[in-house]
Amino acid sequence: MNVSLFRCHGLFLPFIKHCPPYINISHTNRRCVITHRRMRRDFSTKASQQDSLDMSKFPVERIRNFSIIAHIDHGKSTLADRLLEMTGAIATTGNNKQVLDKLQVERERGITVKAQTASLFYQHEGQTYLLNLIDTPGHVDFSYEVSRSISACQGVLLIVDANQGIQAQTVANFYLAFEAQLTIIPVINKIDLKNADPERVEKQIEKVFDIPKEECIRISAKLGTNVDQVLQEVVKRIPPPSAGVDEPFKALVFDSTFDHYRGVVASVALFGGRVSRGDKIVSAYLGKTYEVNELGVLRPDEHPTETLYAGQVGYVIAGMKEVKEAQIGDTLYLQKQPVEALPGFKPAKPMVFAGMYPVDQSEYSALHSAVEKLTLNDSSVSVQRDSSLALGAGWRLGFLGLLHMEVFNQRLEQEYNASVIITAPTVPYKAVLSSAKLIKEHGTETITIINPAQFPERSQVTEFLEPMVMGTIIAPDDFTGKIMSLCQSRRGVQKNMFYIDDHRVIMKYIFPLNEIVVDFYDQLKSMSSGYASFDYEDAGYETAELIKIDFLLNGRPVEELTTIVHKERAYSSGKAMCERLQESIPRQMFEIAIQAAVGSKIIARETIKAYRKNVLAKCYGGDITRKMKLLKKQAEGKKKMRRIGNIDVPKDAFINVLKRK
Ligand code: GDP
Ligand code: MG
Repeated sequence: MNVSLFRCHGLFLPFIKHCPPYINISHTNRRCVITHRRMRRDFSTKASQQDSLDMSKFPVERIRNFSIIAHIDHGKSTLADRLLEMTGAIATTGNNKQVLDKLQVERERGITVKAQTASLFYQHEGQTYLLNLIDTPGHVDFSYEVSRSISACQGVLLIVDANQGIQAQTVANFYLAFEAQLTIIPVINKIDLKNADPERVEKQIEKVFDIPKEECIRISAKLGTNVDQVLQEVVKRIPPPSAGVDEPFKALVFDSTFDHYRGVVASVALFGGRVSRGDKIVSAYLGKTYEVNELGVLRPDEHPTETLYAGQVGYVIAGMKEVKEAQIGDTLYLQKQPVEALPGFKPAKPMVFAGMYPVDQSEYSALHSAVEKLTLNDSSVSVQRDSSLALGAGWRLGFLGLLHMEVFNQRLEQEYNASVIITAPTVPYKAVLSSAKLIKEHGTETITIINPAQFPERSQVTEFLEPMVMGTIIAPDDFTGKIMSLCQSRRGVQKNMFYIDDHRVIMKYIFPLNEIVVDFYDQLKSMSSGYASFDYEDAGYETAELIKIDFLLNGRPVEELTTIVHKERAYSSGKAMCERLQESIPRQMFEIAIQAAVGSKIIARETIKAYRKNVLAKCYGGDITRKMKLLKKQAEGKKKMRRIGNIDVPKDAFINVLKRK
């Protein structure tokens, strides 16, 4: 790695890469299954009309594997639409919008959470090239997707918005590609915008990434301007994969999804040899043997082929029944020709943990099956059974970030019609135990605590440790002062700061993960009128004086609200959380006392007054419709509530309680 590049720009590169997020989801919902069925019908007609694709037409030297990376909203998915249209993979209808974003959450939120592959056939100087494009998500929670996509590629298109310029995730994604030694083609998008300033962006790219501005391609993905040049440069600048068709078959599993009808669908990149239908293959991880039932390429729908060849990217279905069998990062090889496994990936590392419970215990088994199905397609979610006095049986889940958690929750609700309570998220703390009894109990001196309710007593530990991150903030310099005080209030320590052009600064801060995980980005965005961007990566653990705050509703401790805070924050956090609980719990028929306690000491209290009268009592006999309406509204409201003791608590209270104003 070219370390001098970082030095020459004074960029402090956090070398400890957190194993970034990855969410692997698809095809489990009813909608997707329907799509699949339709797709398969399509294939059957297609297959009878024309034979399956002959992929032997594409020798390694005419293959280019590349990925599109960028900050969120800079136009990756829109560029992918144009590339698909121009190569005939989809019809040019004038209204293709982010066609690779297939999930309902992706379409609603306008974000990509799942990397997608498409094989394009491109005519260049009288030859047909096979271009394998991987569209990736931009948000930090999903950068695990990016790092996996990159491992199947030799080059990337680094998209930068001509108006916004380089943003925090542009920097993060650049380094993922740079460290993997890929060819990087900078593409400046949205040049059609009135305020586009491609020259300024080119200067930024030169300054921050050391890429000469002549290498930038200026395009409008929306209008299609210069998009053909992008394809030409992909062919010219990105090298073909170095894989020989005469070598033994060796494929990297870089993604996998689960289909209820066909089992695991593994996305593979062939690093050598060839594989055909009927071949006996082995997964290096488990050593199990399978027969290839179906294989093909994605354009972006599945197109079956007889054989895939070295350098190509496609999918393989081989009777694997569980996603575990197609481990991401695993190597597949022919039973008769064993090979050494490829290096693979580090497993995804959860950054936040939260309890998940059904709103109604009677829905436990339905939710259990929904969680199981969804995690089949998202192996980056870690699942442990858990139970609590107040909420009954549930799970403790680990996510790659808060957006990941919200997306998971939304998918459970939308695709499985499940209603869940997610408790206050926590980061994984550590404690070095001093009590010999506890060390013996745990079988280790240092324990990781993912449930605040299980936080050990101060007297039983030598020290507590909290996870840290290196944050990158990019913002116009008008906001520098405000941002610095926000960072300080979050216990951030500045490590570096420099200008990337006349008006924009990049700031590097070390933060406790706990301080930024819930609402930091929202605050940063609102104080900078949306101009600041933020990204972070793992920076290990540091000693911290931590303390546990318990919360009581009418004297009864509610374990799910238990929170760990820095000692200095105990009073202010306890008070603020009581106030927020007071705001989010509706008035009930009796008075409710909300208390925060450290050990046996009450440190804050708020009261919710009782209703004076039942609202229904106001409806006199005649006004039946109004009465019905009220009753219906109350019943609907109840669904969003969870009864703790005799108190109805809204299900989002557990998260809202952590959000600072
Ligand atoms: P992604 O998050 O990087 O995948 O970005 P999208 O492709 O979803 O695009 C984000 C937004 O920018 C969408 O509203 C697009 O319509 C818009 N957009 C993308 N490319 C262009 C462009 O070249 N010009 C203009 N004016 N808007 C664009
Ligand atoms: Mg996108």
